[in-house]
Amino acid sequence: MVAVRSNRHQGLALLALSLVSLGAAALLRDLAPDVTLCGVKALSGLPCPFCGGVRATAALGQGSLPEAFAWNPAVVLLHAGMLASGAALVLGRTPPWLTPERQRLVFRGLVVILIANWVYLVAVGR
Ligand SMILES: [Zn+2]
Repeated sequence: MVAVRSNRHQGLALLALSLVSLGAAALLRDLAPDVTLCGVKALSGLPCPFCGGVRATAALGQGSLPEAFAWNPAVVLLHAGMLASGAALVLGRTPPWLTPERQRLVFRGLVVILIANWVYLVAVGR
């Protein structure tokens, strides 16, 4: 019973984190449209795997999925994963990608996604 409640709390936290960040980024988007927050990019001129993440979150929060993907595909997948995982946990289910036996596979998949995302960001000049 305690584990179920804990999972539901984790699910609510995931949902809240994703939804609040989507809403906040969408609301704050127009205040500083051309600000670069990335230290890696400021120092090296190259994007990090998360460059464009705030702009992708803002675009997603405003309902523009194509624009969000263009800014940073991994961030869109992150929000989708957080929302799907959060909803499943709130409903009392364990998403298949969060089971202990799949953790290694999921970790490897995340590494591949981050590398592919970084290559994409470098290629498009983010
Ligand atoms: Zn960056």
